[in-house]
Amino acid sequence: MSKKDLRLKIDELSSSIGVFKGLDIQIGRIIDDEWDEPMGPTPFPSIGTLRDWDRKLLERYKPFYMPLCDLCCLCTFGKCDLTGDKKGACGITMAAQQSRIVLLACCIGASTHCAHARHMMDHLIEVYGRDHVLDIAINTNVQAPNTRLVCGIRPKTLRDLEDALDYVETQLVQLTATAHTGQEGDNIDFESKAFHAGMLDHVAMEVADMCQISTLGFPKGVADAPMTEIGFGSIDTSKAVIMCIGHNVLPSVDIIDYLMENKLFEEVEVGGLCCTAHDQSRYDKRAKIVGPISWQLRYIRSGIPDVVVVDEQCLRTDIVDEAQKIGAPVIATSEKSMLGLPNRTHDPPDEIVDDLVEGRTPGVLILEPDKVGEVVVKTALKMKPKRMGFKALSMEKLIELAATCRSCMECVRACPNNLPLMDAVKAAAEGSVDALAKIQPMCVGCARCESACPQKLPLVSFLTKAADEKGMTDSFAIRVGRGAVTDVEIREVGRGIVFGEIPGIVALVGCANYPRGGLEVADIAEEFLKRRFIVLATGCAAMDLALRKDEDGLNLYEKYPGNFDAGGLLNIGSCVSNAHITGAAIKIANIFAKRPLRGNYEEIADYVYNRVGAVGIAWGAMSQKAASIASGCWRLGIPVIVGPHGAKYRRNLLGRADKEEDWMTLDARTGEEKYVGPVPEHLFYSAETLEEAMVMTAKLTMRPNDTTKGRAVKLSHYIDLHKTYYGAMPDDLHLYVRVEADVPFTMKEEVLGIIKDKGWEEGKIGLLDPTLLDRMVRRKS
Ligand code: SF4
Ligand code: SF4
Ligand code: SF4
Repeated sequence: MSKKDLRLKIDELSSSIGVFKGLDIQIGRIIDDEWDEPMGPTPFPSIGTLRDWDRKLLERYKPFYMPLCDLCCLCTFGKCDLTGDKKGACGITMAAQQSRIVLLACCIGASTHCAHARHMMDHLIEVYGRDHVLDIAINTNVQAPNTRLVCGIRPKTLRDLEDALDYVETQLVQLTATAHTGQEGDNIDFESKAFHAGMLDHVAMEVADMCQISTLGFPKGVADAPMTEIGFGSIDTSKAVIMCIGHNVLPSVDIIDYLMENKLFEEVEVGGLCCTAHDQSRYDKRAKIVGPISWQLRYIRSGIPDVVVVDEQCLRTDIVDEAQKIGAPVIATSEKSMLGLPNRTHDPPDEIVDDLVEGRTPGVLILEPDKVGEVVVKTALKMKPKRMGFKALSMEKLIELAATCRSCMECVRACPNNLPLMDAVKAAAEGSVDALAKIQPMCVGCARCESACPQKLPLVSFLTKAADEKGMTDSFAIRVGRGAVTDVEIREVGRGIVFGEIPGIVALVGCANYPRGGLEVADIAEEFLKRRFIVLATGCAAMDLALRKDEDGLNLYEKYPGNFDAGGLLNIGSCVSNAHITGAAIKIANIFAKRPLRGNYEEIADYVYNRVGAVGIAWGAMSQKAASIASGCWRLGIPVIVGPHGAKYRRNLLGRADKEEDWMTLDARTGEEKYVGPVPEHLFYSAETLEEAMVMTAKLTMRPNDTTKGRAVKLSHYIDLHKTYYGAMPDDLHLYVRVEADVPFTMKEEVLGIIKDKGWEEGKIGLLDPTLLDRMVRRKS
């Protein structure tokens, strides 16, 4: 179904009420439905449509709140103290307030992707026209699974995506309104609304990525997407260097086009950070990926960039000041981040270049993507010789400055990762930067230490310099983002996933707010790749797992294939490509199990929840977008694990394994209600350590519908990881073994002995055709 503009122009019309001349009638758009799949029950759901489904999940996975702040200061009644059982002046409780903050975070995240999608779509429609056909993956009929599922439409052209985005925008306004003082008062309803925001986010992300894949020639779901380079060492510093940061690739596309048209790739290097880097490399593999967003400050302080281009999201808001320190002008390209810079959109390019090169302005705002390329490239070429004299912090200067440290510990107190900076600075003052170099990989580049330091020591530069001396100029191979999982891949592995022969899908997503550095992401990925899970990655996580080489000099992208199959490692792409991860789960239900997709959210979510052993891990989750991405997974029944900093999202969604009554599930064949065990045990879990995350991931892949063979495979990984990382057998196996055949063959005696001691009885836990939806029961008992 798509809506079409209707415009009638009639020179003269005679009717019973008279004669009309020069008649021009416009009727917005009319519905043109040519999709033969019947419409499901919930097309374009509003806030309350899926409330019952959400409540089923939230009854099982009760919010566990971890307030960061006991006060509310959202309106002028406040500040209101919400400690204990106190209520705010508006009557709100602490639980509702925490959920309200979660909802707001999810609304911000979803709005950010939606605004990004709108900007991208409007621009690409201008360039390619509304009738440009969508084509996002080879061997694929089910394009836009999130949009089909949620909206009940089957987009075929850019025009059709407008309908989806109109809907998302409208719903986000409605959701944000519910957070106003004196509206919603129930924490579970706030949680349900947060789920709604997350679901909308996946539609918005899908729209954004479909637009760019279809028009910009990105890889279309291919396993062998081209390799490019990542790392400081990938940048050829003998050329003029352009640094692009953010998430919206359109300005970068113009830069690359300008370089191609003017044959300047030999003289100019383009490298990016964060998702713009992913999408640049999807556009042209000559564009380098410098690294994740946490390297932003480090890269600027290295002095390498000759010009800095920012688009939107996750930028350092002090980027103009930082770029000034190295004499590099900043070009802002989005209304969302104008950074106080003068708007030069309509000025002649050469005039803008002159002003930047002569330092008459620290940067400019250019809101027309088609003008960015020329200005940026010309500026970079002119800045390069001017900046030759720039010197990054020298080792002598570092040691001299380190000697001024007052030993006040403020830097350590300010550091979110509690890094032992003071001792490292003291050691540097004595001439050894080894301790600084050792800390550097665990630094997330936030510069809170610098802000706290009374001596104004440039501590991030200290770390960068020390690490540089230790050979942090490497480059690594990375497969560029491939985009969606194809229908053919789903057909081939759907059975293995649903029946458990493939132990699970692990999706490594999100930002770079790691507790102990990005290499942990590679550890997680490799653990599960070796175990023949399917590992998907996006955003900064997809970059970080490229950064570790083995003794043969190979990294994970070089060791594991890029296809959606057991032991495959897929770089799906940028943040907006996360929609393809939920899209793959949805397609398993639709393509493999033939469940109707159209406007049929509950049934598909019920299928994914009970059958598809997928787990998301956002080890460095930081942004509001990460919150809304996770929230979209929760509503679809996909559990998400975050790292220790993820606790600052203020609440987890935890199941109670000890409460049998929480895990009663319907058998779709009979309507009988049976205990299925706590699978998956949690929906949102914040792990303290890497080891805890890995063991929990294996556990959360279990689903009620696992076959005995599948459950045995999953249990063997759970037990093995538990033994490896905790040195002991898990003490909850009796909750996961349904029948003897579930027990991994090689561990039979040991496991049966343990669970029988716990009072386990065969058959107490159900093996059934599970559903949480009464309407899915085929024959009532
Ligand atoms: S929104 Fe409610 S709790 Fe918050 S400051 Fe206003 S009255 Fe107090
Ligand atoms: S920049 Fe690095 S060392 Fe400094 S506070 Fe942040 S994480 Fe800690
Ligand atoms: S905050 Fe600055 S002065 Fe204080 S211990 Fe850290 S480096 Fe030294």
